[in-house]
Amino acid sequence: MDEYREIVSDILATTGGAEAWIETNLAGYLTKRCTGCDLDEDAQSWAQALAWLTEHATACTARR
Ligand SMILES: [Zn+2]
Repeated sequence: MDEYREIVSDILATTGGAEAWIETNLAGYLTKRCTGCDLDEDAQSWAQALAWLTEHATACTARR
């Protein structure tokens, strides 16, 4: 069964040509996502998630 998730940030293109974004689930947990390195990780706060997003879009060179 698919978990409900909603993208709550811009979808940024990474250096490697993949995409990264922030999403929430029904419980309101923030999750950091990246299709390049297949990341799916909880974020502690909105500020932390946004900081990760901008930094990761530049730093991530993984390509699927
Ligand atoms: Zn990545």
